[in-house]
Amino acid sequence: AKSTRGNQYKLYRANMDGNTDKWLLLETKLHQALKNDTLELHYQPKIDLKTGSIVGMEALLRWNDPELGYMPPDYFIPFAEECGLINDIGVWVLRKATTQAHIWNQTYGLDLHVAVNISPIHISTGGFVDMVREVIAETKINPNTLEIEITEMSMLDYTEELIQTIEDLKSLGITISLDDFGTGYASLNYLKKFPVDILKIDRAFVQDIVSGKSGIAMISAMISLAHALELKVVAEGVEQEEELNVLRKHGCEFVQGYYFSKPLSVIDFTNEILEKKDT
Ligand code: C2E
Ligand code: CA
Ligand code: CA
Ligand code: CA
Repeated sequence: AKSTRGNQYKLYRANMDGNTDKWLLLETKLHQALKNDTLELHYQPKIDLKTGSIVGMEALLRWNDPELGYMPPDYFIPFAEECGLINDIGVWVLRKATTQAHIWNQTYGLDLHVAVNISPIHISTGGFVDMVREVIAETKINPNTLEIEITEMSMLDYTEELIQTIEDLKSLGITISLDDFGTGYASLNYLKKFPVDILKIDRAFVQDIVSGKSGIAMISAMISLAHALELKVVAEGVEQEEELNVLRKHGCEFVQGYYFSKPLSVIDFTNEILEKKDT
């Protein structure tokens, strides 16, 4: 399967020509990090715009290598998709995030949702639904609190099998979000057929709100479109009050962004969000 990120990777690889050693090192390191459980998840709160309260969090992968330093997921996820590690990473993330969410909900008597990013490549792999079902049974999370975020795919990858997979996940009680909406391939036709529950407006559109009139027009159109299709809307990357006001005015349901909180480690999320005390 092809993805935008795969293409980013190819661009990157073209720049890396003659640097195969570093490439191999990266693959070995990532493989080790996965095996030794040294990858981490950070969690960014998701806020209900009507009530102002936290309804859940998005799990975001963090990789700090002692030798290579911090590697952002935008950099190593496309690489993992290309070298075949992405499915193992996806399983690891699902297990880790659901385990953590279950602990938090049990400890604090909450019903927080946890959103996990899954590569289109992974979700298109046979056996994906069975794997998710196993992870749910294993971690005992309420499937109604699990969300899966998938980025837009090209029409070519949009098969009957994929629709069936999405339907099967939904019938388990899982919520499906279309991530990075507006940045990829999704046409209106695609959106009509793709059985998602939530549209996630990409940060780039949120940033445009303060830059002029067309920014607001775009946001307003995207939210109207989502609502016409009976989808809920999450806006990501909210940093300013002005952005928040525009989103609220146009009926956006949920927001994430630095205005509320950066993605936080387990300890910081526990202290700063759940215990509401400063560390
Ligand atoms: P995304 O899913 O669109 O995630 C949103 C990104 O925006 C995250 O970057 C987040 O830290 C950042 N962000 C959130 N709020 C703000 C804000 O107010 N301002 C700014 N400037 N940035 C904000 P991050 O964590 O570096 O992740 C980048 C991308 O890597 C993600 O984009 C996602 O596509 C991918 N990714 C991250 N974790 C995973 C994972 O576990 N699995 C997969 N397959 N992809 C992942
Ligand atoms: Ca996401
Ligand atoms: Ca995004
Ligand atoms: Ca993204």
